[in-house]
Amino acid sequence: MNPLPEHIAALRPYKSARLLHKGERWIYLDANESPFAWATAMDALPVLNRYPDPTADGLREAIAANYDLRRENLIMANGSDELIDLAVRAFVRPGRKIVSLAPSYGMYRVSAEKAGFEFVAVPLRSDFTVNEEALWAALDEADLLFLCSPNNPTGTIIPRRLIEALAARFSGWIVIDEAYGEFADAEGFSSSVELIRRGAENLLVLRTFSKAFAAAGIRLGYGMAVASIIDVLLRVKPPYNVSVLTQAVGLNIWNQRTAMEERVLAQIAERNRLMQGCRQLGCVVFPSAANFFLFQPPPDQPHTAQTIYEYLLEKHRLVVRWFSEGPAMENLLRITVGLPEQNRLFLQALASILT
Ligand code: PMP
Repeated sequence: MNPLPEHIAALRPYKSARLLHKGERWIYLDANESPFAWATAMDALPVLNRYPDPTADGLREAIAANYDLRRENLIMANGSDELIDLAVRAFVRPGRKIVSLAPSYGMYRVSAEKAGFEFVAVPLRSDFTVNEEALWAALDEADLLFLCSPNNPTGTIIPRRLIEALAARFSGWIVIDEAYGEFADAEGFSSSVELIRRGAENLLVLRTFSKAFAAAGIRLGYGMAVASIIDVLLRVKPPYNVSVLTQAVGLNIWNQRTAMEERVLAQIAERNRLMQGCRQLGCVVFPSAANFFLFQPPPDQPHTAQTIYEYLLEKHRLVVRWFSEGPAMENLLRITVGLPEQNRLFLQALASILT
């Protein structure tokens, strides 16, 4: 048998949170999902014997209206992960690079490498701000830049000034991943969608139903850009990428935005309470504009991020995210805001190991 292509044989796959610790036993505070479930997301089973609308126009129209865009500015996809993949396939020429920041969302690297492209990650500074000089330098032979704002896993916002400068001066394409954008919206940070409204021709903004919209299970994300970019992505996407079920449930959930916004405010209040609790236990807490945050164990005691992670898991069934890979994240944990009761359990458990 022929060997696999080298870049596939060498691929380090994405570590899905839901591959680990499967089942009912766990309290999941590890994957930045919403802790809330929708009770009424589908009225009746839709017709299933026909293929779905290939471009999911009902969803495109409804979402476009909300952003003051047109249907032509929207593409729907099987999670925003599919759009990350589509951007790699659509915008990058052979031999050119794909750039992002580190730490940031792991799928940018996986999508780039599985397509055979070189991936360059520009390290954030120790306070998680962008090293702008290093970023500009890395863009030299790049066709595509992924920026995540609020950034997963740091929770930080990429400054609008930087995004505007990149949109004006970088000759490649820029994906702004706003998977956590609804949390940032609620705290008054401005979305890069504004730049699309003003006609930015190299910008694709991604959002998802998986976080604030509490629907990670249906796999639905969307991209927003000028019509010429959307047109290219529609030509590259698989024909029926969003199922009939997902389109029906997605539209239903989109129409419950008021409930979503109330939940976002509740999660922000809980996040702030959690941060305060961690600080009171002596942890170093990093500010976040999303439904998660990073923290470091108190420097004056023996426990590390790893021992705390293992303790929470084994003694309390609490799953948080520990980044075992790479020295930059070695002693950090990321916690996703859960239900008030789950957050209380977490703080209690953390107190029991730290005090
Ligand atoms: N972007 C970021 C920054 C994420 O954190 C995630 C989910 N972990 C995704 C995209 C993928 O989301 P989706 O469920 O829409 O594929």
